[in-house]
Amino acid sequence: MTVNIPGVLPPFCKGRGGVRTEHHKDMAKQAVERMPAPDEVVLPLSMHIGAPCAPTVAVGDSVKIGQIIGDTDKFVSAPIHASVSGTVKAIGPVKVANGSTVNAVTIASDGKMELFEEIAPPVVTDRASFLAAVRASGLVGLGGAGFPAHVKLAFKEDAGVDTLIINGAECEPYITVDHREMLDRPEEILAGAAAVKKQLGFRRAVVAVEENKPDALASFQAVIQAEPEAYGDIELMRLPSSYPQGAEKVLIQSVTGRRVPPGKLPADVGCVVMNVQSASFLARYLRTGKPLVSRSLTIAGDAVATPKNLRVPIGSMLDGILDYCGGFSKTPYKVLSGGPMMGIALADLHVPAVKSGNALLAFSAEALPEKPFGACIRCGRCAEACPLHLEPCRIEKQVKLKSVEGLQKTNVLVCMECGCCAYSCPAGRPLVQSMRLGKAIVMEAMKR
Ligand code: SF4
Ligand code: SF4
Repeated sequence: MTVNIPGVLPPFCKGRGGVRTEHHKDMAKQAVERMPAPDEVVLPLSMHIGAPCAPTVAVGDSVKIGQIIGDTDKFVSAPIHASVSGTVKAIGPVKVANGSTVNAVTIASDGKMELFEEIAPPVVTDRASFLAAVRASGLVGLGGAGFPAHVKLAFKEDAGVDTLIINGAECEPYITVDHREMLDRPEEILAGAAAVKKQLGFRRAVVAVEENKPDALASFQAVIQAEPEAYGDIELMRLPSSYPQGAEKVLIQSVTGRRVPPGKLPADVGCVVMNVQSASFLARYLRTGKPLVSRSLTIAGDAVATPKNLRVPIGSMLDGILDYCGGFSKTPYKVLSGGPMMGIALADLHVPAVKSGNALLAFSAEALPEKPFGACIRCGRCAEACPLHLEPCRIEKQVKLKSVEGLQKTNVLVCMECGCCAYSCPAGRPLVQSMRLGKAIVMEAMKR
């Protein structure tokens, strides 16, 4: 049987680095199930890159879904909305997935799941009102970055930003919620892309999908063919399946051939990248005015009793989500918030699901065989694997020396912690931990 994979394979995909991981994308076959709302949600006031919000409600207040419960006047931030209706039970510090403590608003659900009466589609008449609407929606990068969307889109009109890339790569193993979104809501993703393209004047909009998802490519192609007037000017691009194809800088090079220099942003080379779920959310928000109050997660790994793709109210606790999936079928050796390459190992599962979290994975010890751990044999595989042209073994040496100058010269701050170097290292060196440590040393020195 011939499988027709639509889309154009770009000529730029011969960039250095990256690794071929096993995909483990079995969950793509499972539709996203909606989890019933829990008895309470915990909404951290900082679940995005940038300034934390301050609470706009007090303990005892009644709130409804979509009502703002936290906001700030700082530009790099995003408002936070109630994800259940009920009563504000507490405001105070809570632990979050990365182990830090942040202020949060806890809402006890009344079980009614009532929508806030003031929710209405935003009035968008020009660029400024569009950006105001994006901010009001509470949207942050849903692919895992958590960067406020209105900040990413607020480039200067004359800055030469001409290309919008809708990121459907989903290159991390196991995670399938983007794939499901592309199968279930291709038209909303295209509608979101079309709205951003129109309102911000992009010359080109490209939906980029890895070639291991031919059904997603086909679903986009069907919508574009059915509605050429609405979506005919959006390009569909098929990308090779390699990790980290979905990382912004890698994706930009794959799609446009442009390379984002160290320390620069995508907009500096004329590009903006948006995740497929961000695009579809934005289309729904523009239609309904309902802000970001829920998101989809892949719950998988060999230690999960009943793996699922789940839509959960933001602020649901991760241990409650696991319980909904039947708990553990095996003793968990490692539980991750996010994928196996870039996820955070969880020390405590009683932490809230946040806007940017796209997966919860649990593995037994037999699923994660220990790699040999030994001295660096100077094979150079880590440098070959690094998509950002860094030399991780040299950086590791500078970390051991605690040399700020050496770390700056080896560009440690450019590292995106993708894990390709550690994945490739035959000696099992903990290179990502070294990169994090190296960054912390430089950041600390810069503060002084
Ligand atoms: S973790 Fe950093 S150093 Fe290692 S491959 Fe990724 S970008 Fe390069
Ligand atoms: S891949 Fe590992 S062993 Fe090879 S040079 Fe890099 S750190 Fe050393």
